[in-house]
Amino acid sequence: MSRQHPVVAIDGPTASGKSTVARAVADRLGLKHIDTGAMYRSVALASMRRSVDLRDDAALTALAASLAIEFRPAPGGDRIVVDGEDVTEAIRAPEVSTAASIVSAVPGVRVALVARQQALGAAGGIVMEGRDIGTVVFPNAEVKVFLGASLEARTRRRHDELRARGVDADLDEVRRQEAERDARDETRSHSPLRPADDAVILDTTLLTLEQVVAAIVQLVRERSDVV
Ligand code: C5P
Repeated sequence: MSRQHPVVAIDGPTASGKSTVARAVADRLGLKHIDTGAMYRSVALASMRRSVDLRDDAALTALAASLAIEFRPAPGGDRIVVDGEDVTEAIRAPEVSTAASIVSAVPGVRVALVARQQALGAAGGIVMEGRDIGTVVFPNAEVKVFLGASLEARTRRRHDELRARGVDADLDEVRRQEAERDARDETRSHSPLRPADDAVILDTTLLTLEQVVAAIVQLVRERSDVV
């Protein structure tokens, strides 16, 4: 981490727009982008396929430590490759979202994935998004942003996103699932979702994507030598 190669930490609840914002900021500033949620989703998908019990902390921890999770740059956004298989679409299924929120509460899973995230970002020059990047993974990040939005706005975003992928989800059911995942993230004992004390909090309910991206780009320019 340095002024030339800053770490930009973007955290926030489900469907707060983190991924779209983080990717746009990284593209605009020529930084790398890592979606840490994809790593928890990869562990969840692998555990479902291998019929690992979601209450078996030791087995989940071993899985998180052993899976080969790669981010392969591609024109439409990184492809996520796990043990050689492209799982980019598979990890977005609603049942994987729920399983990811369960496996992410297992301390051993977090320890294994956080170590990988720290290695991926060790050289800086990166935008990393998740739930605990500013609090646990990179507490010394040059820029920390916590994105928030009302549950209603986030429910609509997730619903639109699912429909765009051809999933005909019920709005009330999407709202219930989002609220349940947030509650699990906020109340877990290991690395709960919360803004770092020095995070800039941006409520995106009434902001456009461009306004959010511009605000973060400006912050990065103020706090680093990236142009
Ligand atoms: O961001 P995304 O919704 O893809 O993350 C999937 C799940 O992984 C979240 O519901 C959350 O429980 C977990 N997660 C986490 N810490 C992170 C990133 C994601 O606990 N840094």
